[in-house]
Amino acid sequence: SGELLYGKVVLVTGASSGIGAAAGRVFAREGASVVLVARREKHLASLAEELTESGARVSYVVGDVADGEDMRRAVAHAVERHGRLDGAFNNAGIGGDQEPLHLMGDDVYDAVMDTNVRGLWNCLRPQIAAMLETGGGAVVNNASVGGLVAIPAAAPYVASKHAVVGFTRAAAEEYARQGIRVNAVAPGSTRSEITVDWYARNPGLEEAIHAVTPQGRTAGPEEIAEAAAWLLSDRASYVTGVVMPVDGGYV
Ligand code: NDP
Repeated sequence: SGELLYGKVVLVTGASSGIGAAAGRVFAREGASVVLVARREKHLASLAEELTESGARVSYVVGDVADGEDMRRAVAHAVERHGRLDGAFNNAGIGGDQEPLHLMGDDVYDAVMDTNVRGLWNCLRPQIAAMLETGGGAVVNNASVGGLVAIPAAAPYVASKHAVVGFTRAAAEEYARQGIRVNAVAPGSTRSEITVDWYARNPGLEEAIHAVTPQGRTAGPEEIAEAAAWLLSDRASYVTGVVMPVDGGYV
């Protein structure tokens, strides 16, 4: 096990599957105390048990990022249980259906914006307030290559991820002098529940994405988690406001 995040208290949203679950494992391995947050309690409980057995300090909070009170409760839990909040990986997000925008229902727009944009807003505010109490911290938001360029047939998702990039840059600039760094990762195609579902419902999509990805493959979720861990660590002490593609060369 490593020491990149030794002694730090780090909260991860969307920790019940995919990139967030991988992040829980990587952050714990690197010495962090980890607070896992998502809606599906069974998944969180089994990951917390796995990590606790490996010797890590881990707890979980069942909550919906679209609910501001849930996210205040998650931050309060981190402070009460682990003493403070040093880092947050705001990773929870949904993809929404893949469809041309003129055919897409308002329900897709509402769900994607509530989770990916309002959800980030709900997370950032109590996290930053808690970090100001202790004189600093680091936030990493999970955007997407869809936060930097368009990806096909996912207009609300692309708009939501451009908003994640906007929040990242705005918060980085506002809090830089108060010791808080705010960065984002922008993953390309990554193995998770989102992509398993997208690729199953859209035959040929995975092959088409691989064809325009220089490395020609989908990432494992731990490859994204490793980049987030570095950005959260003190090794990235002069890095803020950056959106780091982790995309096999796609962008
Ligand atoms: P998964 O679907 O496997 O994971 C999504 C996670 O977000 C789950 O843990 C889910 O937990 C959680 N989540 C979703 N909605 C909410 C909510 N309302 N409140 C709390 N938690 C929520 O997919 P990924 O791992 O791929 O997704 C993680 C992030 O990575 C997303 O932001 C996604 O946009 C981004 N991303 C993914 C890419 C990919 O190719 N996979 C590429 C670029 C970005 P639960 O359902 O238990 O609440």
